[in-house]
Amino acid sequence: MYAELRSPNIHEPLNMAEYNNTILSYRDTLPYLWAGGTEIMSRPGYYPAQRANVELISLDKIEELHHFLRNDRFAEFGAMVSINEIAQAGKLVLPKILLDTINGTACRTVRERITIGGSLCTKSFKTSLASTLMILDAAAEIRYLKKRMHSKWFQLSRIYDKNGKLEIPEGGLLSKVRIAIQQYDYQYFRSAGSPMTDRENAVSLALVARFEQGNISYARIIFTLHDKGFCYSRDLDNLITSVQLPLSITRYAQIENYVADYVKESLTPVSPLQEARLKGLFHDMVSDMNETVLCYTPR
Ligand SMILES: Cc1cc2nc3c(=O)[nH]c(=O)nc-3n(C[C@H](O)[C@H](O)[C@H](O)COP(=O)(O)OP(=O)(O)OC[C@H]3O[C@@H](n4cnc5c(N)ncnc54)[C@H](O)[C@@H]3O)c2cc1C
Repeated sequence: MYAELRSPNIHEPLNMAEYNNTILSYRDTLPYLWAGGTEIMSRPGYYPAQRANVELISLDKIEELHHFLRNDRFAEFGAMVSINEIAQAGKLVLPKILLDTINGTACRTVRERITIGGSLCTKSFKTSLASTLMILDAAAEIRYLKKRMHSKWFQLSRIYDKNGKLEIPEGGLLSKVRIAIQQYDYQYFRSAGSPMTDRENAVSLALVARFEQGNISYARIIFTLHDKGFCYSRDLDNLITSVQLPLSITRYAQIENYVADYVKESLTPVSPLQEARLKGLFHDMVSDMNETVLCYTPR
């Protein structure tokens, strides 16, 4: 005897016109989009499953979504470009923090499957790539159905709500991501814990900064609690910008407490291990920043 298995109906549009037609003909069912499949396939009991009688749209054959282009000011990647391809193509020009974030995600084989669109649209947890792209002010093109198909560019921070919940219209497709080509004097990315196997305790921290005469003149910082959301605010950016480096131990203790309380207030409830990791990552970053500033020679 074998158990009943129902297969999903899989649509494989070859271009955006076919994609639009598929979406329009299933406007009441809202088909499920399939990119690299790494998050979808990792969900317990998802596939094959008895309830798998859904309409799936595989984005893999839409050529336009595999394109990327670059000029002096920005790089633009189609949603189906894998994060490995982004790291390869942008090795010499993309901000170092982006390459660090990509290289800190999964292993090389999995990175070949993970797409930039899937990374930004994963719903069950927050990815590190989404947070890094947010502080880099990346923008995304969203296509969505409203009587007919529309497309619009959004700053990445605007496609998530304040808790990091994806807010693109139901059935919307993220089709392209635009990343400015610029470097910073200081770029830092670290993560602790796996968002796949231990998401309640996983944390990551990303920061970019510019220095002027040994002081921070511009900073963007983001904490990601992978099960809860992003903590990203002008208050934290201003706090980092106002500090005098190298930071003394007393001043450091005040700032660490303020930052930890701020994150806990924004993303309650933070587990004890998550809090310890959050403080550990922040501590390591400040030590590294102190060291960088002491050795910094302006360009
Ligand atoms: C072994 C392993 C290790 C990992 N390690 C890390 C890690 O260290 N750090 C980290 O942050 N993440 C990690 N991940 C998670 C990984 O980042 C996600 O699984 C991945 O981003 C999903 O991308 P995908 O292309 O496979 O998307 P899919 O799994 O195909 O889709 C994910 C979701 O996005 C939707 N979607 C996909 N593309 C689009 C689009 N263009 N427009 C709108 N919606 C879309 C899908 O409908 C689905 O809901 C790991 C995953 C694995 C399997």
